[in-house]
Amino acid sequence: MKYDVVVVGGGPAGAATAYFLTKHGAKVLVIEKKKLPRYKICAGGVPVSALEYFPFSFESVIEQYIHRASFFYKDKKVNIDIPKRCLVMVMRDRFDYFLIQKSGAEVLDNECVEKIRQYKTHCTISLKRGGEIKTKYVIGADGAGSVVAKSVGLFQKCDLGLALEAEIEVDEAVLNRYQSMFQVGFGVLSYGYFWIFPKKRHLSVGIGCIKKKERMLQKLNKLVSQLGLTKNPCRVFAHPIPFHQGNYNINKNNVFLVGDAAHLVDPFTGEGIRHAILSGFIAAQCILKRDEHKYSEQIKAKIGKDLLWAKRLANFFYKHQGFCFRYFVSNPSVVNAFMKIISNRITYKRCMFRAPYYFLIDFLSKLKK
Ligand SMILES: Cc1cc2nc3c(=O)[nH]c(=O)nc-3n(C[C@H](O)[C@H](O)[C@H](O)COP(=O)(O)OP(=O)(O)OC[C@H]3O[C@@H](n4cnc5c(N)ncnc54)[C@H](O)[C@@H]3O)c2cc1C
Repeated sequence: MKYDVVVVGGGPAGAATAYFLTKHGAKVLVIEKKKLPRYKICAGGVPVSALEYFPFSFESVIEQYIHRASFFYKDKKVNIDIPKRCLVMVMRDRFDYFLIQKSGAEVLDNECVEKIRQYKTHCTISLKRGGEIKTKYVIGADGAGSVVAKSVGLFQKCDLGLALEAEIEVDEAVLNRYQSMFQVGFGVLSYGYFWIFPKKRHLSVGIGCIKKKERMLQKLNKLVSQLGLTKNPCRVFAHPIPFHQGNYNINKNNVFLVGDAAHLVDPFTGEGIRHAILSGFIAAQCILKRDEHKYSEQIKAKIGKDLLWAKRLANFFYKHQGFCFRYFVSNPSVVNAFMKIISNRITYKRCMFRAPYYFLIDFLSKLKK
C-alpha cells in the first residue's frame, strides 16, 4: 500500500492529523475537494493554545493579536481587557494552507472523495472523478455532513447550527476602531450571537445561531447598516455548524472522524478550530500506538465531556441573555475565566462551579470603587 493513512479534508483537523502522523514517519495523503488555498467562511478567532501543539511559529498568517473584548446587549455595552497573546485572528485560506504545507503530507487538491469502503485490513477510497486509492487508515476530516461518516455508518443525524458571515472592507478610521478587539453582540437572536472580528484590512462580520434559524440574513444586514460599516450590499456566505450534542462513536476500526466531522464545535461559542486540532492529535496518537478502540473514549474524556457543560451553559445563557449580560458578560472575572477555558487552563465545569466566586470578586471590586 502506498499510504498508511489517507486524510479526507484539508481543513485544520485534516492538516493537524496529517502533521502529527508524518512527524512519526507515517506515509500520509490528504485529499481536499477544493483547489488550495481555498476561502473558508469563519470568524477566524484562534486561541493561541491551539497553536501550541505545533513547534513552529504561525506569525506569518496571524492577522491580529486580540487584547480587548467588547460586548453589547441591546443598547448596553462593555469593554473588557483580556490577556495579551491569548487569542489571534486569522484568515482561513492562508491559515489552513500554511498548516497543510507544514504537514509534510502528500496533498491531492481539487479532488472530491465520493465513498469509502471499509475492509478488515484496509480501506478503499473512491474519487468522484474516477479511480480508487487503497490505505490502511482513513481520517474523516471532511467537516459537517462528512462523506466518510456516511460511508461507514458513523453519521449522526442531529440539528445543525447555522452561521452567516461577510468580509467587509472598511476605511482606515473604522478599521482602527476595531483594532485588536473582538466584538460580540447578544440579544439579537434567541439562541446565538452577532460578531465583528477584525482582520488586517477588513472586518469579518457574522451572525450564528445554535438552534432556531430566525431571519438571520435580515438581522445581519440590519446590524451592518446600523453600525455604519458599509453602504454597499455585502456578499454573505453561510455554513452549517455541527455543535457537539452528545458523545457518540466516532471511530469504526480503521476509520476515524476528527474536527467538525466528529461534531466537536463548542455549543456555547461556536469555536471549533482548537478541538479540530486536538482531535487530530488524539487520532494520530491512537493510530501510532495501535489504540484505535480508545479513540472515541479519549475524545469524550478530553473534549466531549466538557463540551456537554458548555451545552448546559448555552441552554441557560441564551434563554436569559439580559440577565447573563448583566451578571456574567459584564464581569471581567468571568470574561477572564472564559479566556482561561480557551487557553485549556480550566474547564467549563470548573468555571461554572466557580460562578459565586466571580460574583464576589466583582461585588468587592465595585465596593472599593
Ligand atoms: C461562520 C463561521 C464562523 C466560525 N468562527 C470560528 C472561530 O472564530 N473560531 C473557531 O475556532 N471556529 C470557528 N468556526 C468553526 C470552524 O470553522 C470549524 O470548527 C473548523 O473549520 C473545523 O475544521 P475541520 O478541519 O474539521 O473542517 P473544515 O474546516 O470544514 O474542513 C473540511 C474540509 O474538507 C473538505 N471536504 C469536504 N468534503 C470533502 C470530500 N468529499 N472530499 C474531499 N474533501 C472534502 C472541505 O472542502 C474542507 O476544506 C466558525 C464556523 C463558521 C461557519
